[in-house]
Amino acid sequence: MTTPQTFDCLIDGRWLPSRSGATMDSINPYTGEVVSVVADCNAEDVDAAVLAARAAFRHGWGQTTPHERARLLRRLQALVMREAERLALAETRDNGKLLKEMRTQSNYIAEWFGYFASVAETHEGAYIPADRKNFVVYTAEEPVGVVAAITPWNSPLLLLGWKVAPALAAGCTIVVKPSEYTPTSTLILGELICEAGFPPGVFNVVTGGPAAGAALTEHPEVDKIAFTGATDTGAKIAARAARNHTRVTLELGGKSPNIVFSDCDLDAAVNGVIAGIFAATGQSCMAGSRLLVQDELHDEFVARLVDRVSTITLGDPMDPATNMGPAANSAQADKIRGFIDRAVADGATLACGGSATLDAGSLFVAPTILTEVDPGSEICRDEVFGPVLSVLRFRDEQAAIEMANDTDFGLAAAVWTSNVFRAHRVSRALRAGTVWVNAYRVVSFNTPFGGFGHSGVGRENGRAALQEYTETKSVWIETSGETRDPFNIG
Ligand code: NAD
Repeated sequence: MTTPQTFDCLIDGRWLPSRSGATMDSINPYTGEVVSVVADCNAEDVDAAVLAARAAFRHGWGQTTPHERARLLRRLQALVMREAERLALAETRDNGKLLKEMRTQSNYIAEWFGYFASVAETHEGAYIPADRKNFVVYTAEEPVGVVAAITPWNSPLLLLGWKVAPALAAGCTIVVKPSEYTPTSTLILGELICEAGFPPGVFNVVTGGPAAGAALTEHPEVDKIAFTGATDTGAKIAARAARNHTRVTLELGGKSPNIVFSDCDLDAAVNGVIAGIFAATGQSCMAGSRLLVQDELHDEFVARLVDRVSTITLGDPMDPATNMGPAANSAQADKIRGFIDRAVADGATLACGGSATLDAGSLFVAPTILTEVDPGSEICRDEVFGPVLSVLRFRDEQAAIEMANDTDFGLAAAVWTSNVFRAHRVSRALRAGTVWVNAYRVVSFNTPFGGFGHSGVGRENGRAALQEYTETKSVWIETSGETRDPFNIG
């Protein structure tokens, strides 16, 4: 039995209850216990947070040097490493993901703050060779202003770090609205940001549900929205953002293909397919939820997969021996089970798993493999966000590419082959923001990540991510001091 922690929201460097006094609970999906009691913020709280961020931007943070910001980011990096265990425990308790995975993530996220400190210090504008006499022309990258960051529940801190590190490095101020299911690690990060010495108002947290998110995304003082979440929510946010000409980065869903050619290393491919769809209980935007296998390998590969899946241990996410935890909440568990039932009703064959509840009242869903699926059916086209793999077969390389690209999404893809020529050809032909060859689920602070099509807009990570938080300004300086003809500037 863990004692629930209580958190206020963070506005202008102060911890404050919601103005209405309302609170909400986050629930441990494995034990059913309350993990945290947090403020349920409304539009008034959101307004106060955005105005604090605006004031902090205008009266100081927006004018700091990159070196001042880098110093604070490095302090934050050290504090996140110091508190990595507490952050990992908070995340596992909130979303039921394995403690060993959350430990890796909470240590790794510290690297984002160090990396973007270095990016801030080394980022350069351009000197433009002017095509007019007597002009000096250069560009400067100015911080975009107030950023609204909205995050989902599956990897709350990691996905927040992808936004906060470049935004702070660029000189922006931030208002974060974490998922209502997983607010705790974001609030702990708020404590660490205060301890690191970031000025009040630079980083604010409002907790709450979709209504708080909506109030934040339609606020006229927000200059940029950085959103990770469902594709439908992303579309609503983009429509709202258009009304205020607010910039957006959207990291949305996926239906990523894992393409297995008959010349692959079989053991490595089986391992990669398992990692792609059953790690994190399949609750991963980059989940390899479509398996495309070459005809002649299909039956053997499926048999090996099913065999391997039978060894997957479901259980307590805190236990190092567990491979898969529960679904993150009951709505998610019901949604996954509904997808499985409809797929079977549509004619898919259940090779293993299924929608049956494993223990009464539990949120566990068995790892599920569906074969003989129709490429046009719901299970092949929609994101399940759970441990459900749809298997398709293909004849040759061209057919594999066409099948892989036959999706509205385009977040990630993997190719399993020992033919180096094929590896390059297929990687370039795939319409996806990340392609792995003989690997799955690898990401880094210095490598761009984002989607084609319905998987999103813009990129996170890598040097280019800084530009998602800046506006490019071109400066023209006349050097002759002579008066020009006002009707023929030329
Ligand atoms: P969600 O869209 O339901 O919620 C995400 C966040 O948006 C939450 O904080 C929620 O409160 C808020 N929100 C909900 N409705 C809103 C509205 N109308 N206006 C403003 N904010 C609103 O998503 P989820 O269920 O928390 O997360 C799962 C989804 O996230 C999946 O589709 C997954 O693919 C996607 N995801 C994408 C990536 C990526 O990098 N591409 C990473 C992780 C998750």
